[in-house]
Amino acid sequence: MNTSANWMRVFGMIGLSLWLSAGALAQPSAATSSMSMDLAEVRQKALAETLAFNVLESLTTEVGPRMAGTPGDASARVWAIAKLKELGFEKVYSEPVQYPVWERGRASCEVVKPYPQRLELAALGGSIGTGNKPLLAEVMMFDSVKALTDAKPESAVGKIVFINQRMLRSKDGSSYGPVVMARVAGASLAAKIGAKAVLIRSVGTDANSRSPHTGVMRYDNMLTRIPAAALGNADADLLERMILRGQPVRLKLDIQARTRKGQYTGANIIGEFTGSEFPEQIVAIGGHLDSWDLGTGALDDGAGVAMTIAAAKLVTAQKRPKRTIRVVLFANEEQGVFGGKAYAESAKAKAEVKHHVIASESDFGSGRIYELSIKASAPEIAEMQPLFDALKPLGIEQGENDATGSADFGPIGLLGAPVADLKQDGTHYFDIHHTANDTLDKVDQVDLAQNVAAWAVFTYFFANR
Ligand SMILES: [Zn+2]
Repeated sequence: MNTSANWMRVFGMIGLSLWLSAGALAQPSAATSSMSMDLAEVRQKALAETLAFNVLESLTTEVGPRMAGTPGDASARVWAIAKLKELGFEKVYSEPVQYPVWERGRASCEVVKPYPQRLELAALGGSIGTGNKPLLAEVMMFDSVKALTDAKPESAVGKIVFINQRMLRSKDGSSYGPVVMARVAGASLAAKIGAKAVLIRSVGTDANSRSPHTGVMRYDNMLTRIPAAALGNADADLLERMILRGQPVRLKLDIQARTRKGQYTGANIIGEFTGSEFPEQIVAIGGHLDSWDLGTGALDDGAGVAMTIAAAKLVTAQKRPKRTIRVVLFANEEQGVFGGKAYAESAKAKAEVKHHVIASESDFGSGRIYELSIKASAPEIAEMQPLFDALKPLGIEQGENDATGSADFGPIGLLGAPVADLKQDGTHYFDIHHTANDTLDKVDQVDLAQNVAAWAVFTYFFANR
């Protein structure tokens, strides 16, 4: 009796649990499989599309360089508004962003002694100039930022400091951080030990190019401001060889960069498709519209602009989204994330931060995406399995839950909006980053399509789940 009653109970429990699990799975699996089919369809369509390349071709051809505060910045905004309208975005508007304007001016560098010849260089963004007459001084080489930081006080009085630290190649861009300190902080570190100017080996992985890599630098307000410029890697090699021969090397440096007085008013350009069921909920994607002035900003960040515009268009062409899809084209990321900070402030003022379902920027060129990481809790991530499954055929793995949203969605991420990173292969990104070689021909159309497919799947999932 007892035994039989126990068996009955056990069978009953097994039966109940089987029924429960079947029932529990039955409903979500129908929704899940319909979502999975939609995602597969979006992915296939996007892989066959050329819209992103066409948008990028248009931006780089019709606008080209668009450094903050230049005429190119203004024409990029005109271009963006027209392009979003042409593609059928339902709401197209701009939000003002203020920033100072830096002017590059001319820059030249000559070795005066002992081996007279010219070197290729570019002033760093934010640098001051050398004044009315060129600066003539002996150069003093440091192998790394660390060596410069450790140098004795007054050890470079009256000299031009040359920071000769090489950037290593990395897939995820992690080798950028340690070296970029030379560019960002080099001038103040050199000024601290008495230098009159600083030259850096370009922060870039190309070993066979004279092209300097520009990029933003910062002054420590407590220290004297000195001019700062980057030599292309080939010319950094050349200068290194001269210095290693042992005689003092004298340079003539002429830099006419300056920052204009007052503030310039640019704008974030925003395009939206309104959600049908939850219009107040926002899926925010985008890239930064500004670029440096040396190239045409095809990779940085024309690619991010083009692929997120294309993804939003493709997703909404398939089906009206339940939630609002917003593409943000940020102003002046390069010189201090001005657009990203303004976007977060505006969202806060409009009480929109909490309505962001997800926010993610593309700003790492057009290399293939290999990983998606989302800042969310483990149970939330578990519910996103159809998304990760749909990205697998594109070669994209699920990453750690450590996303930042990239530079421009970073500030709203800090205010609590959920952010994601679609991590791209950056093995070759820093060969041309911030150089005159950042042009359309560097974009691989097959890789670009893989990016668009991933962004379309990602956007569709969050807009319609
Ligand atoms: Zn960028």
